[in-house]
Amino acid sequence: MTKQRLEIEKSNQQKPKPESDQIPFGSVFTDHMFVMDYDSAKGWYDPRIVPYEPLTLDPAAMIFHYGQTVFEGLKAYRGEGDRILLFRPEQNFARLNRSSERLSIPPINEEEVMDHLRELISLEKDWVPETKGTSLYIRPFIIATEPNLAVAPSKTYKLMIILSPVGSYFTGGLRPVTINVEDQFTRAVKGGTGMAKTAGNYSAAYQAQAKASQEGGAEVLWLDGVEKRFIEEVGSMNIFFKINGEVITPELSGSILKGITRMSIIELLQDWGIPVTERKISIDELYQAYEEGIVEEVFGTGTAAVISPVGEFNWLGKKMVINNHQIGDLSQKLYDTITGIQRGEVTDSYEWTVEV
Ligand code: PMP
Repeated sequence: MTKQRLEIEKSNQQKPKPESDQIPFGSVFTDHMFVMDYDSAKGWYDPRIVPYEPLTLDPAAMIFHYGQTVFEGLKAYRGEGDRILLFRPEQNFARLNRSSERLSIPPINEEEVMDHLRELISLEKDWVPETKGTSLYIRPFIIATEPNLAVAPSKTYKLMIILSPVGSYFTGGLRPVTINVEDQFTRAVKGGTGMAKTAGNYSAAYQAQAKASQEGGAEVLWLDGVEKRFIEEVGSMNIFFKINGEVITPELSGSILKGITRMSIIELLQDWGIPVTERKISIDELYQAYEEGIVEEVFGTGTAAVISPVGEFNWLGKKMVINNHQIGDLSQKLYDTITGIQRGEVTDSYEWTVEV
């Protein structure tokens, strides 16, 4: 298939950009967005960059009724010499297609959309903030647009990419957080949609998140949905444990999202010669290791925070204080290495970054 021509319609207005040190998360958007449509006869067609504006959708559009939608989240960083860098963006588009497959949404041409994203970011490059820790958050998403109440896959879709400058996740550096081990609600089950980035997984987590906040926790630790024993993820992050010199992360069981930060950390640890294992780990095993005093570090991983150290777990009224609420050396080294690569400050021997 020949590459489709990208139409660009420039906005005649330029919105004010927020100050780098006071950007609220996810509520400021740039001047333009990318849009592409799909119908069963034409496939994906009409790629275009247009001024950022509200959508008009039929109230019967299938997205509103059966939640047929997928999304991604990645960031553009401003590095040394004003270079604008993306971190493993091809992985995000590959995952978007895996999510789409699960939600019966037709796949996109990953390379083509990647090229269009580069065009969009080039046009919006002044929106990539400069201060360390800040970035331009990129949100690609697909929605089912066919006006039809039949419970069946839509025949039409819209792919959009919107951009939002975001501030530092942790103002003042890494900060260990308290986590509530969730014993009632389930995020996902094997055979369900946990491995896909789809809206319902996230809204279904709000009740547990509210419960965690009430109980003084910052995030939820999800256990498997069947036995409520095996550890899955923490909030919207993957999780790693350093126990007795070995790093352990739950294996991808089908209910866990395959995080790109997770993947990168596994590769780094392997390269550094630190033992890293993907396997099942139960909350009882963690508690036992904790009682033996061999839990050295615990951290969540994801695009938003990169590394989020865990300072404490609350589990059925029991407390596990990790590393005395301090940031572990390995957590700090991983954070410095990945954020350094993302900004072009640390040599990227893995070729993870892509310059826009
Ligand atoms: N788990 C869930 C449920 C998530 O939403 C995310 C964020 N995408 C992650 C893990 C971390 O993935 P990544 O490292 O690709 O951001």
